[in-house]
Amino acid sequence: MDDLIDTLSTIVGPANVLTADADMSPYLGDWRGRYRGVARCVARPGNTAEVSAVVRACARAGAPIVPQGGNTSHCGAGIPDTTGREVLVSLSRMNAIRAIDTANNTITVEAGCILQNVQEAAEAADRLFPLSLAAEGSCQIGGNLATNAGGVQVLRYGNARELTLGLEVVLPGGEIWDGLRGLRKDNTGYDLKQLFIGSEGTLGLITAAVLKLFPRPRAKATAWLSIDSAQSAIRLLNEFQAAFGTMLTACELVSEVSLGLVKKHIRGAQAPSASSPWYLLVELSGPGDYDDADDNADDALRASLEGFLEDALEKNGSRSIADAVVAQSGEQAERLWTLRESISEAQKIEGISIKHDISVPVSRIGEFLDRADAALRAAYPGIRIVAFGHVGDGNLHYNQSKPEAGENAAFIAAQPQVNRIVHGIVHALGGSISAEHGIGQLKREELQRYKSPVELSMMRSVKQALDPRGLMNPGKVL
Ligand SMILES: Cc1cc2nc3c(=O)[nH]c(=O)nc-3n(C[C@H](O)[C@H](O)[C@H](O)COP(=O)(O)OP(=O)(O)OC[C@H]3O[C@@H](n4cnc5c(N)ncnc54)[C@H](O)[C@@H]3O)c2cc1C
Repeated sequence: MDDLIDTLSTIVGPANVLTADADMSPYLGDWRGRYRGVARCVARPGNTAEVSAVVRACARAGAPIVPQGGNTSHCGAGIPDTTGREVLVSLSRMNAIRAIDTANNTITVEAGCILQNVQEAAEAADRLFPLSLAAEGSCQIGGNLATNAGGVQVLRYGNARELTLGLEVVLPGGEIWDGLRGLRKDNTGYDLKQLFIGSEGTLGLITAAVLKLFPRPRAKATAWLSIDSAQSAIRLLNEFQAAFGTMLTACELVSEVSLGLVKKHIRGAQAPSASSPWYLLVELSGPGDYDDADDNADDALRASLEGFLEDALEKNGSRSIADAVVAQSGEQAERLWTLRESISEAQKIEGISIKHDISVPVSRIGEFLDRADAALRAAYPGIRIVAFGHVGDGNLHYNQSKPEAGENAAFIAAQPQVNRIVHGIVHALGGSISAEHGIGQLKREELQRYKSPVELSMMRSVKQALDPRGLMNPGKVL
């Protein structure tokens, strides 16, 4: 008999404590298929009081806890180790929208709300919740905040950190911190919520959040450009920003190799424009004219975008923009977005990959690509570089697939050396080895290598202060 499992069953009900291998299985492997753990059990509390009681029971029993949301992490952050000692706490039953305050432009949600459901609840209240990423149909707000998720609209609205006004957190001893404040100004000492955002479940369990809402854009215009180089992408980004300011909501770079994988593996995917080394997907959104029907507002913004592209073509010449397609309907825009958002899935189908989620100052993106491409190709002839991402934020998913004829095992064995090349260049350019996916277990050693001793020591002090027994998601981040 396992006393802890009995206690947890009493707290959340026997149906919400999973112990059978088949029941636990979906929680124990990650999205990429890189990590598989073993758990003592999976507990699924249904409210904050239950989370608190679960955490207290685990603390009493000295059992480590692994919080899990939608389990879409790219770094194995929500997967237990292989000892079988850890209790996996899934927040998925805590999925209520607690309140929407349209006058305050806030929404209060429980941690287990799927991101897409939060977006839809905001839309039903004629507001926008702008956090948006390809995993939005399954990732959860708790996971988004615990990883400080970014996505495709950071350029305009900021990442999860900037979208959060308040948090409710169950601390490692089981105490509940009610920080659910919907304030845009609050200078009453340390901003504690920011400690939990991006902490990957290592400091406490987020149970609810107050998030910012925005006016819903009335007009959208989307374009797909064939361009010659990443340098041209940065120049165009600056020209777009000068012309449209904050109406530029997304600016995504896609390499020809990335698009090639999507065309190969995703049914119905077709190149929208002439073939070129790089593509840029841009989206403008704006308030539009409230007296107009939405269609007219879209037409007006599309006309501005087309005018801009004509001027840009004249100014830059067909050398840098070889072709451009402006979506003529919402459906066409969606098809362009599907190409971008299917890259991770396509690369997963293609096979094993080495992933880097890096950021450098936007101005140094071109230099990063030149240096890293050359170094990797010299060291690993035939390596396929799958580069894409949020170029407007200086953030690239700079992934490698093995040479077509290469062996999986040899390729994966090369991962530490490949990381050294890529992360070394990132570091030299003043960048980050994890722009938005976090550290999890994948990049723990890399973090030790690239953070300064002073920064690591401050991080350990925070961990020690909040979780002195090291029971929250051990082996992740630090
Ligand atoms: C196809 C695809 C595309 C993606 N695109 C992006 C992207 O554009 N931008 C981006 O930032 N990420 C992206 N990701 C990565 C991933 O979706 C994000 O990291 C997401 O925020 C994780 O949410 P989740 O609910 O799945 O968290 P999980 O994977 O379940 O957990 C992630 C971490 O958060 C912790 N955690 C989860 N819930 C809680 C909680 N309630 N309290 C405390 N800690 C918690 C876990 O312990 C773990 O450390 C993508 C992933 C996929 C599969």
